[in-house]
Amino acid sequence: MISLKGGPIKADIKLHLEEEIKEFLGTGRPTPHLAIVQVGDNERSNVYIEQKRKYAHAIGAEATLHKYPEAMLPDELCDAVKLLADNADVHGIIIQMPLPAHFSKEDASRAINSIPPGKDADGLTSANMGRLITGDETAVTPATTRGIMELIKYYKIEVSGKHVVVIGRSNLVGKPTALCLLALGATVTVCHSGTRNLAEMTRMADIIVSATGMPGLVTKDHVRAGQIIIDVGITLNGAGEICGDVASGEVGEVVEALTPVPGGIGPLTVAGLFLNLIGLYKKSL
Ligand code: NAD
Repeated sequence: MISLKGGPIKADIKLHLEEEIKEFLGTGRPTPHLAIVQVGDNERSNVYIEQKRKYAHAIGAEATLHKYPEAMLPDELCDAVKLLADNADVHGIIIQMPLPAHFSKEDASRAINSIPPGKDADGLTSANMGRLITGDETAVTPATTRGIMELIKYYKIEVSGKHVVVIGRSNLVGKPTALCLLALGATVTVCHSGTRNLAEMTRMADIIVSATGMPGLVTKDHVRAGQIIIDVGITLNGAGEICGDVASGEVGEVVEALTPVPGGIGPLTVAGLFLNLIGLYKKSL
């Protein structure tokens, strides 16, 4: 079984971005700048934000944190985002999820949609999603999906004409990943928590992308020989260890290739975000 590691891809992308930014700065261009908006003090969010800031520093970009108290109201968040949107020194904006519990789904969506599409580094605004659906080249691919696409490119995984089963239908991962695979010519089936006979569906696939956050969901009964499995799931178990959606021990004995967790798609999400930022930055020049 081939282990499709994300580390070497992350390193390649980092080098590429570092060189590109150096070139821009050398010609007197401004430093690419990502504004990260955080409401509250979620511990996991703090870790993810730190990773993003470190990556920005390593490639020569700037990532500023705009951290607000837990009690911030949805309207106040929209106002804060609009201020950043009007700031010409900011090239990309992201709102770190999750938002505090008093934000409804509609509040979160309104806050995300107050980011102008031209600064939407996470690609999660409705405008960007629409562009993704219509195959508009100006679409920003959500960071994790972009990471998955980079993995597919790096390992030269043939997607066109293949049957891909995506497990998960979130706006963050499942839906944009299904759309990008469709654009690459795959026949895509999207499975989710309401799917009956998941194992029957997944066994029909050439490639499975699992993004559920349900550790051990994909077992040896869900797979067959020759398949490629991309495990996007990241869940902390009781012992504080990171687990994927795939029961990797038993599945690894059957399939052709599998992304490890940790060390597969995880490292590529941050890289995907900064690929997006630099794309937006270039368009802004
Ligand atoms: P989500 O909770 O928004 O969506 C989960 C999806 O899984 C839903 O669409 C649901 O229908 C589906 N699902 C749940 N149980 C299922 C079941 N038993 N059978 C089939 N489908 C089922 O989560 P999300 O934001 O899409 O994230 C999914 C996973 O990916 C999480 O573990 C998350 O931590 C991880 N993630 C990883 C990265 C990364 O960098 N690798 C980035 C984003 C998310």
